[in-house]
Amino acid sequence: MISIVGVTKSYGSIKALGGLTLEIPSGQIFGYLGPNGAGKTTTVKILSGMIPPDSGTARIAGFDITRHALEVKKRIGVVPESGALYESLTPAEYWEFAGRLYHLDQQTISRRGQEFAELFGLKDRIAERMNGFSKGMKQRVVIASALLHNPDVVFLDEPLNGLDANAVLIVKELIRSLAKKGKTVFYCSHILEVVEKLCDRVVILDSGVVAADGSVASLKRMTRRTSLEAVFSKLTQDPEAKDAARVLAEKLAGEKQKP
Ligand code: ATP
Repeated sequence: MISIVGVTKSYGSIKALGGLTLEIPSGQIFGYLGPNGAGKTTTVKILSGMIPPDSGTARIAGFDITRHALEVKKRIGVVPESGALYESLTPAEYWEFAGRLYHLDQQTISRRGQEFAELFGLKDRIAERMNGFSKGMKQRVVIASALLHNPDVVFLDEPLNGLDANAVLIVKELIRSLAKKGKTVFYCSHILEVVEKLCDRVVILDSGVVAADGSVASLKRMTRRTSLEAVFSKLTQDPEAKDAARVLAEKLAGEKQKP
């Protein structure tokens, strides 16, 4: 469903992606991990047509992301890393705006809007301007708008940001159900416990290149670690970082005690 071949991207002298190649089949919940600055958001931005790659190619559902950008956009939904919401609108107005961009008819927009409002506990707030909404409420609206047009591929960049425990359960269940229906879920996150439970496959990106690719069980076996957190740390952490943190904390504690 997603095919990426040799994609590179630099911002000036910063190399964000150094020749990324990945094949992601339909129905997979694909976990995309990496330290801060590894290139995860850059990948999502390229695949969703927000920025062009410097070189390489990528296809979604067989459509080239550059040459057939519109066909790609019809088939994808995106929950970006940080809010993309017109807060002066109500959820109902925002979903109508998003739905019309995807050429959904009014009836479908209203019906799906109601269904998502019900699911996310927003039924009583659907006609209220979002500038008074909490972070988690806005995130619920963003997730619903990414799914409103029933896309084949969903890109989720830290989708659980700001959500309470109940909403987290709902979103996780939603993701599992979507995958069972054959949708592909591209899931970027730093919350490793969730990735470990949710994702069929995990890629760990480090400095723009793939450091590991496999099921959580196979990555644990390969690195002889018992948790995804330990796998991640083995593959991406500077071995001296933990000692440096301890030394700095002790130094700060020592300075506080001085008069
Ligand atoms: P995080 O986990 O912190 O969200 P990430 O894995 O999503 O990080 P990216 O946001 O893709 O990483 O960034 C990859 C690299 O590209 C980083 O070094 C970042 O500073 C750089 N970068 C990203 N966007 C820009 C930009 N618009 N201009 C300059 N540099 C950028």
